[in-house]
Amino acid sequence: MAIAVVNPATGETVETFSEHSAEEIEARVVKAEVAYQALKATDYAQRAVWMKKAADILEEEVDELAKMLTIEMGKPIAQSVGEVLKCAKNARFYADNAEKFLADEPLEDPSIVGASKAYLHYQPLGVVLAVMPWNYPLWQVVRFAAPALMAGNTGLLKHASNVPHSALYLDSLFTRAGFPDGSFTTILAGSAPVAGLIEDRRIKAVTLTGSEPAGRAVAGQAGAHIKPAVMELGGSDAFIVMPSAEIEQASTVAVTARINNNGQSCIAGKRFVVHADVYDEFMDKFVAKMSALVVGDPMDEATQVGPLATERGRDEIAELVDDAREKGATIRTGGKAPEGAGWFYEPTIVDGLEPGMRLVMEEAFGPVASVYKVSSREEAADVANQTTFGLSSALWTGDASDEEYFIKNIEAGAVFVNGMTISYPELPFGGVKDSGFGRELGAPGIREFCNFKTIWKS
Ligand code: NDP
Repeated sequence: MAIAVVNPATGETVETFSEHSAEEIEARVVKAEVAYQALKATDYAQRAVWMKKAADILEEEVDELAKMLTIEMGKPIAQSVGEVLKCAKNARFYADNAEKFLADEPLEDPSIVGASKAYLHYQPLGVVLAVMPWNYPLWQVVRFAAPALMAGNTGLLKHASNVPHSALYLDSLFTRAGFPDGSFTTILAGSAPVAGLIEDRRIKAVTLTGSEPAGRAVAGQAGAHIKPAVMELGGSDAFIVMPSAEIEQASTVAVTARINNNGQSCIAGKRFVVHADVYDEFMDKFVAKMSALVVGDPMDEATQVGPLATERGRDEIAELVDDAREKGATIRTGGKAPEGAGWFYEPTIVDGLEPGMRLVMEEAFGPVASVYKVSSREEAADVANQTTFGLSSALWTGDASDEEYFIKNIEAGAVFVNGMTISYPELPFGGVKDSGFGRELGAPGIREFCNFKTIWKS
């Protein structure tokens, strides 16, 4: 894949870039390693000053950055603003909390291990390789970078090939904020150099956010070289609506959960699992609200759904819907790409799904909702758990026993009750099954790339 910015709203190439040569990549690895030696000698207070400065810069440059995101990947402009501000919030969160999250943890009674003192001490690992996707070009990176740098690690970023402007912005952000030069460095390259970097002894760990195939490749390489890894992969989250749910609100939030980021979010509600008692009521509202969405130029403040980020992504979503239609599913609204320039796809709802249709098991990374009618909570949990993914889930109910049942039985990294899944700096984020392993955000997120050093003193 060429490294280029191609505006998905028009299909026009904005700028192309040459990949970094092997020599340039080597120079950047050296820089990241040198920066690590400098960074690990600093204290939390100093790093917090720099991290807060990075937050200030993001906020000062929000308008320009939002345009950059929308041109690169087609996100509606208001959502691009939201993404930038969320990055600033995350930077401040880790600036304020890193020291507390990584404070020594003493054993209450050290005599039990024959010591006068025994405790857990967190230390950074070194240079961490980050392989990142295009769907939230700043957020996905900053949610790794803020805790990593606050812990004293440095980062080497291999961003997705279609977001080089974001990649280059991130290359300078942390240095501009005061971190030692090289603390966060971008390599402009496709995926080819990744295996060699994972093998390199100077790279101590790897994190990847992206598709399941990319995760399998990178996790396999990390395993072969005994490097810690965090994998944030795809999802096909269930959004369960039970009879006691507030249907008006559930149907409104269902639309947002499905079309946010033009439907290209790993934690989007993708499969709507609706109890038969409220199925028709929910569907009438859901179809009406999805059909009423404003699709168009993502630079226009009034637009609710912009284009898919790439032509391939648009074609893949069209293929999933066509496959379901050909095999007998019902298209309740949408179901095609509109005429004209850009990689748009209509907000779509499909029901009447049967085993063997690709939409049943595959992730729909675009504004396409699959809806399933179920007649019990056991059946709802079976449908929710039938894919190989397990990222998050949402449950709509007014019944406490439903809540208890689904929290216990949903195979996913999170359950959001009467709301949609959103990532917050304060809450751990990550999946089970083929959605990956490890956690970002919260306290677990900063500990992933630390040495848990045990100290024992006689
Ligand atoms: P990809 O997995 O193709 O790309 C993500 C990153 O991985 C890019 O930097 C890409 O580089 C790189 N990459 C791809 N293949 C390899 C490989 N074999 N070895 C090393 N690096 C590789 O993702 P998509 O573009 O398809 O993005 C959408 C997918 O990502 C969806 O499935 C979505 O659910 C998932 N995702 C998951 C998230 C989560 O938090 N769990 C968040 C966002 C997306 P290049 O661009 O150069 O090919």
